[in-house]
Amino acid sequence: MRLRAGVAIDLGTVNTLVYVAGRGLVIDEPSAIAVDRATGKVTAVGQAADILAGKEPQGVEVIHPLRDGVVADLDASVAMLQGFLRRAGLRRGLLRPLAVICVPGGATWVEQRSLAVAAGAVKPRCNVKIIEEPVAATAGSGLGPADGSGAFIVDIGGGTTEVAVVTSGHLVRAQSLRLGGNAMDEAIVHAVKADLALLIGRNAARNLKMNLGLTDAGTGWVETVGVDVASRNPRVEHVPGRLVAGALEHVVAMIVSSVREMLSDIPPNLAEDVVRGKIRLAGGGALLPGLSSRIEVATGIPVLVVDDPLRCVLRGAGASAACACPGTPACLPARPAAGWSPPSPRWHRRRPSAGRGRSGRTGPACRWPCSPPTPA
Ligand code: ADP
Ligand code: MG
Repeated sequence: MRLRAGVAIDLGTVNTLVYVAGRGLVIDEPSAIAVDRATGKVTAVGQAADILAGKEPQGVEVIHPLRDGVVADLDASVAMLQGFLRRAGLRRGLLRPLAVICVPGGATWVEQRSLAVAAGAVKPRCNVKIIEEPVAATAGSGLGPADGSGAFIVDIGGGTTEVAVVTSGHLVRAQSLRLGGNAMDEAIVHAVKADLALLIGRNAARNLKMNLGLTDAGTGWVETVGVDVASRNPRVEHVPGRLVAGALEHVVAMIVSSVREMLSDIPPNLAEDVVRGKIRLAGGGALLPGLSSRIEVATGIPVLVVDDPLRCVLRGAGASAACACPGTPACLPARPAAGWSPPSPRWHRRRPSAGRGRSGRTGPACRWPCSPPTPA
């Protein structure tokens, strides 16, 4: 993994990844927190929280704060991010790091700012920069901002699918579908219930998806365990590939149609780059068996599943955002106190030393003539 930013964070709807310079990947865990219902205190973050999901533990609420590509619960998102960053040991070392955060496309401007402030509260005086997921995914797939060619990227995450054309680190076209791997899991849960009268959980559905996908439509099956709808007793069942492929059809058709729609709208100057550079699939959904060939057949353009698609966005977040890009619109100074307001132009005229101060309260330390992002 070639990264340059001090800290890179991929805040995904299903998984959150944190990279710290010099230490590598320090967090790769589900985006989840567990909260004590009585006290409201966070009792677990990440894997320890997600393991309780769907098991109905008494007195504990498990929250997945980023659902369907939007920040469904901002307070929980902030608490989760801070929990991860503390665990990543962000307080130690790296005097004034650049922290690059990738958030789902559906996050609003205010939510993005709140998350930036949350990161700044854990590590005062770091510079926080928020970049668009497709731009990071493109960089992670090997086409950084310095590469002038255009790229067609499809990032299939848990809650969203981002379809975009990117060139030189800029979005040319982008579309965000509010569906991804989670919608596939839900479709499988419903199909197994309807066809086999069996209630299965999220993890069982995910397992069927990963093992059968779209390829075993004719043959193949996978054993699963659920609860019989009528008797309410646990039951073992062989789920056929045909049933899973049928359940996934709706979501896959939506992704394919979004890709085709985007292809019909690319600027002619980028057409050759896209065809020669292939359609790049990133995110966990890129690993769905049979998806790449399905898109290839539907579009007539070769499809490439990027290396290690689950970490593609994180790679790009670090590599593309060493802020060798003065004036990048989404670069803003982090402040530890809540209630962020747009930075005054004066901040940007200050020298880096102007931000000194133990608590970081004396001001930000953005070294570049950046401006806050345009509100969504
Ligand atoms: P996000 O960025 O939204 O957190 P990720 O890129 O981490 O999402 O991808 C998570 C999604 O990818 C989940 O829905 C997961 O079930 C799915 N996924 C992971 N591995 C596979 C696989 N081998 N086949 C199909 N789907 C997969
Ligand atoms: Mg993602």
